[in-house]
Amino acid sequence: MSNSKENIKNGSCPVYKKCGGCQLQNLTYGEQLKFKQNKVERLLKQFCRVEPIIGMDNPYHYRNKVQAAFRTDRSGRVISGVYQSGTHRIIGIDSCQTEDVTADKIIVAVRRLLPSFKLTTYNEVTGKGCLRHVLVKRGFSTGQVMLVLVTGTPVFPSKNNFVKAILKQFPEITTIVQNINPYSTNLVLGNNQKVLYGKGYIEDVLCECRFRISPKSFYQINPVQTETLYAKAIELAGLKGDETVLDAYCGIGTIGIVAAKHGAGRVIGVELNPDAVRNAIVNARANNLKNIRFFKGDAGEFMSEAAQEDEKPDVVFMDPPRAGSDRRFLDSLIKMSPERAIYISCNPETLARDLNYLTENSDCIVQKIHPVDMFPHTSHIECVTLITRK
Ligand code: SAH
Repeated sequence: MSNSKENIKNGSCPVYKKCGGCQLQNLTYGEQLKFKQNKVERLLKQFCRVEPIIGMDNPYHYRNKVQAAFRTDRSGRVISGVYQSGTHRIIGIDSCQTEDVTADKIIVAVRRLLPSFKLTTYNEVTGKGCLRHVLVKRGFSTGQVMLVLVTGTPVFPSKNNFVKAILKQFPEITTIVQNINPYSTNLVLGNNQKVLYGKGYIEDVLCECRFRISPKSFYQINPVQTETLYAKAIELAGLKGDETVLDAYCGIGTIGIVAAKHGAGRVIGVELNPDAVRNAIVNARANNLKNIRFFKGDAGEFMSEAAQEDEKPDVVFMDPPRAGSDRRFLDSLIKMSPERAIYISCNPETLARDLNYLTENSDCIVQKIHPVDMFPHTSHIECVTLITRK
């Protein structure tokens, strides 16, 4: 059985060491949670007491987004899998304890289909060949599946028949997209794409709201824990019904939309990625919300302009990437001095740095810190934090 918290120990995964993705696999799940709790306490207990970390009942196959790199080895065999940590070598893997099972199966099926269509893998050195990466996203609530075939050039021989063949094996695939990435880059997706089948996006339901997800837009990869995380964030916001809420680093608008459903009077979202902003606007409409507006831009810049215009949100949700927030954002937050700020962080180190800046330079105090285990078996830690004023 795979739903015990104690059963995987000492790297039962055959590629545990080479892959490096699950840094904590040498620990039981219970030990992993303790390790994460201790780390958060070490970094953040100077601000306030740290609540017990919220773990998963079943910490396996939680990832709704799976990607694999493709290469041909010297003997002409196609391999698909992940980059060995810190290198550009691919380790062939067919399944992973953290990844969605259907997504893994689709990737293996794509690999097995290549020879019969005489499709090659892309060679980054020569710039020749076709398939470079495969990305699969699955909506856990809706069952909708997106398959993205990333090619090195726009040429994709016999693509229509290839699409038919993969759909025959996996009728649950609802959309197939070709993404073209000719660049020498670590990024999986390039800028151009063609929809080969379906709508070009999938939808998922989270906290009773419906969300559209494009190949490139950010969507939390562990939907089970995301519901817990967002529910905590909304609880900490203590919305009564008429607040103006700012959702900074809003992605496809998930937190702002959930807040609007929970009665926020007016919601403003800001996000850098244009695809995500487009999704956010559609998502607000799909959830019948009229009191919500999304802007494309840098959150720090947006905040400082809003602060200059004396815009005063009552509640600010902020969910920056691993690098944390920047001075401009934090200074504007201080200037706006909302009743509450809810800081959602995927990196306790930058969270500690930003909380330190806020508490040193204003009358902000940290009221609550809840770690949530969004990434079992990895060393990544998510926290949701409530900041108020003295
Ligand atoms: N709140 C969303 C997304 C969080 S991930 C959710 O829960 O799904 C962080 C988001 O910040 C990403 O969508 C990323 O594109 C965006 N981002 C990164 N740097 C940014 C910046 N400087 N200004 C605004 N958004 C930014």
